[in-house]
Amino acid sequence: MTTATWTWMNGEWVRWDDATVHVSSHALHYGSSVFEGIRAYATADGPQIFRLREHLQRLHDSARLLRMTLPYGVDELTEACVELVRRNGHDACYLRPLAFRGPGGLGVDGRHLPVEVALLSMEWGAYLGDGALENGVDAAVSSWRRFGSGTLAPLGKIGGQYVNNQLVTAEARENGYEEGIVLDAQGMVSEGAGENLFVVKDGTVWTPPLSASILSGITRHTVMTLAADLGIPLREQTMTRDFLYLADELFMTGTAAEVTPVRSLDRIPIGDGRRGPITERLQREFFDVVEGRTDDRHGWLTRVGGGSGSDDA
Ligand code: PMP
Repeated sequence: MTTATWTWMNGEWVRWDDATVHVSSHALHYGSSVFEGIRAYATADGPQIFRLREHLQRLHDSARLLRMTLPYGVDELTEACVELVRRNGHDACYLRPLAFRGPGGLGVDGRHLPVEVALLSMEWGAYLGDGALENGVDAAVSSWRRFGSGTLAPLGKIGGQYVNNQLVTAEARENGYEEGIVLDAQGMVSEGAGENLFVVKDGTVWTPPLSASILSGITRHTVMTLAADLGIPLREQTMTRDFLYLADELFMTGTAAEVTPVRSLDRIPIGDGRRGPITERLQREFFDVVEGRTDDRHGWLTRVGGGSGSDDA
């Protein structure tokens, strides 16, 4: 991960090293933050940000769940994200919008506290390691469960909730796996620690529904749309753990992980233990879209201007 020169904090351009917060900030104590992860890709038209508005809308949705009002609307944040990528001279990058309750009191109820908003960017390659996109990763079903909507708010990308994801991913890595997969409170398949999950079985693609306590992933939505474009049948379906081991193909989707095949689960090979043909087809379509090699038929890319692939200064 290579960090950038500039960050955006509360409407100002601030150098990376100066983008600091006070230790009494409510979010540091109680996890009252909301965030996003977004990628910008290098294209022939310079860097373009993938599904920027949808991510910023989800940031606002996550804030709503916390009864937090963001002082900047989607339009303002869209402009600031574009400018951030341009200013930092990225060809491709990962963007991290973050909003959190700041200092002013340590009571658990932080509704009266100031809301701070920051935008960070960094250069970040394949999330699950070199070769993961081609060869797939080894995953394990976690001993931890994903929290349900009676406990927390799975549809929100809320900082404090990610303690659950940290438990899952740390356990998986300690045990020698690249990623952990969680079951929901009922024991049905939910998702990966930072990814949504897809099964391919008998030519159909299956993915758990929102009622399985998943995050409503934007890459998940992208892959569902691309499957429909390609005429690949897809079903949102509650699924049991054993169904995963019997999959022909298994893959995970997320902004960081993109479309990553899973080659084994709990050391049981999935299919023949390599990236499968439908995964590869969806993956190729995904990268053709995000890297601007096919027509942006769904209006998913936001041009930045600048970068070495463009004539703009
Ligand atoms: N589930 C969880 C728990 C995540 O953290 C992420 C990453 N944001 C995803 C799914 C995938 O979501 P998206 O495709 O919007 O990045």
